[in-house]
Amino acid sequence: MDLETKVQFIKGVGPKMAAKLDYLGVKTVRDLIFYFPRDYRDYTKISKIDDLGIENREYRIENNIKTIKAKIINISNRRTRRRRFTVTEAVVADDTGSIKVVWFNQPYLEKMLKAGSEVILNGKISYDNFSGQLQMESPNRAEKPKIVPIYPETVGITSYYIAKLVEKIKDLRLKIKEYLPEEIIKTNNLLNIQEAMLQIHQPESSTSLDKAKERLAFEELFLFSLQKQLSKRDVLFHKAPKMEIDEKFLKGFVKKLPFKLTDAQRKAAWRIIKDLESDKPMNRLLNGDVGSGKTVVAAMAAALVVKNGYRVALMAPTEILANQHFETLSKILKPHRISVGLLTGAHKSDHNIPDIIVGTHALIQDKIGLQNLGMVIIDEQHRFGVSQREKLLAPNENTNLTKIQNYKITNKISNLSIQQFNNSAYRPHYLSMTATPIPRTMSLVVFADLDVSVIDEMPADRKEITTRIVEPNGRDEAYEFIRAEIKKGHQAFVICPLIDESDIVKENLFDEDRKSVLKEYEKLSKEVFLDLKIAMLHGKLKSKEKEEVMSDFRNKKYDILVSTSVVEVGVDIPSATVMMIENAERFGLAQLHQFRGRVGRSDRQSYCLLFSGSNSEIARKRLSYMESVSSGFKLAEKDLELRGPGQLYGYQQSGFWDFKFASISDRIMIEKATEAAKEISNDIEKYPKLREKLTDVSHHLE
Ligand code: ADP
Ligand code: MG
Repeated sequence: MDLETKVQFIKGVGPKMAAKLDYLGVKTVRDLIFYFPRDYRDYTKISKIDDLGIENREYRIENNIKTIKAKIINISNRRTRRRRFTVTEAVVADDTGSIKVVWFNQPYLEKMLKAGSEVILNGKISYDNFSGQLQMESPNRAEKPKIVPIYPETVGITSYYIAKLVEKIKDLRLKIKEYLPEEIIKTNNLLNIQEAMLQIHQPESSTSLDKAKERLAFEELFLFSLQKQLSKRDVLFHKAPKMEIDEKFLKGFVKKLPFKLTDAQRKAAWRIIKDLESDKPMNRLLNGDVGSGKTVVAAMAAALVVKNGYRVALMAPTEILANQHFETLSKILKPHRISVGLLTGAHKSDHNIPDIIVGTHALIQDKIGLQNLGMVIIDEQHRFGVSQREKLLAPNENTNLTKIQNYKITNKISNLSIQQFNNSAYRPHYLSMTATPIPRTMSLVVFADLDVSVIDEMPADRKEITTRIVEPNGRDEAYEFIRAEIKKGHQAFVICPLIDESDIVKENLFDEDRKSVLKEYEKLSKEVFLDLKIAMLHGKLKSKEKEEVMSDFRNKKYDILVSTSVVEVGVDIPSATVMMIENAERFGLAQLHQFRGRVGRSDRQSYCLLFSGSNSEIARKRLSYMESVSSGFKLAEKDLELRGPGQLYGYQQSGFWDFKFASISDRIMIEKATEAAKEISNDIEKYPKLREKLTDVSHHLE
């Protein structure tokens, strides 16, 4: 047997089980070795019963899993009255105290666990709803203290079964050749791959398990960073069209704007323009808090590219946002006789190919009009995956000389563009934009292939948004406040987490009410604001309807917009001054900050009112950060601390941080791993095994 042997041929597996393993992605012995536990049950860290309550009371840990070693005092089964299942209840004790233990539908336990016998139990500590006493729920048992892996399961394949298989083949792990360079293992004091594989599956102790996890975490960061380094290098092999900087044009452009650019905007714009002047493809991220004015910077760059005879594509994550960009750019660029088109699932503006085409991901599917691209802009880029970006950046197969020549290019540089299209290594400049505040450690890894420009300043006329948590009894007052704002000619958003009541799936009996757009819309228009004009917006509306509602709201045909999170990103309605959020506890901090960014987009004082359906102290505390912290960056770091990177706004969808082992808070490891990757990337050719591993990994990445 070797690493490539099919699992079917492991003793006792057979074709049936092999098919099920296949479903888990486990085809070969190698796959099995790289099939990692998702968690562990640690029967080695034994808690004293008397200490169990403390953490629950003080920190309210939701999933407080503990191990105890105790004697069974008594144990008995009973049937529940309403639903017919068996509850086994026991009282167990150690030398510090006793606790109730409950199991469901395992009546045989009564016979198995005799009073007086000693057991090691691992389970969740909670409070009994009725008595208020501490209890342990459905614990697992172990004979001796050890760490047991828990594998991801599927129908017919239990974690226990996988552990048995792994045991059978455990010596084959010695055949895995180390792929990390020797010196990296040494300088970073890592376990080698064979040892790491042993400890990850069958840890001797929690220390050795930690060492194994550390090796794998380092490896993830290192391989990912190396990939980024290499793709950064690859981009530089390509050529992008060089733009001529027409200073007079740019000055005129700035002069015609209805406002004065901030210094930060000027600096960012200049960096971009300098990038465009080079024949090396620009690869830049423009990062600026919500409302900092990124669009106009992108518009200026786009105008310059068009003046040089090339086209620009701008991709946005939602139709609403694509529509808005289309309108904004049309307005700004019309005086310069630059045409703008729109391409979304619902919309195709006209037949003529415009200078700038704005769209959703429909742009990728329908690459018509994307010939002669000089620059690609992606707004809110964290909403897209790497492969979508690459598709948009890849030269269009339809690109050919005739088409380019037919397209009337008046600029002298057009000749240059034709040469460039002859060159297969052509790649347009790339500008991505995000308001997502990226903690430095994270950007070190995730954006290692990009140059980053930050707009760290708001337009001068902006006032800090006043944010308040509103108590349930302050609701009427809040509505009066909204009315007063609207009387001043302002507008308001009301955000609800759900579209309609049918979306409510109660997670438990005591779930708080969650607000829905339909119901709030009814209530506000029929009971609260009879005198005002109210509209609603949510994802179930047709594209055309959404478009109409948005543009009517923009044109002040409505005073209040009741909406789901579809208005979360990018929407720009300068005369809106109130953002009211229902069930604010349902949203992450960074997401709430995005909502809040929908107001405060003019010189008017704006307000963010947070309603919470929860009395939980943690939820309270989280919302109180919104009151005291106005910087999106600081909030994101808080969010990260409180909820972890998966929850960080938008990161989940785009797989920004879907590492199994590496943690975003491990700054030191991140720095070491990225540093190591930078060094190795220059002579990757010396490490064939590493190269091979990299190809392997990148298949899984997208
Ligand atoms: P974001 O960075 O969130 O994408 P936008 O580009 O949508 O922000 O700009 C927010 C609002 O601020 C828009 O209405 C825009 O016209 C306006 N704006 C942009 N720059 C300035 C500025 N320098 N002074 C005043 N208003 C500005
Ligand atoms: Mg924006």
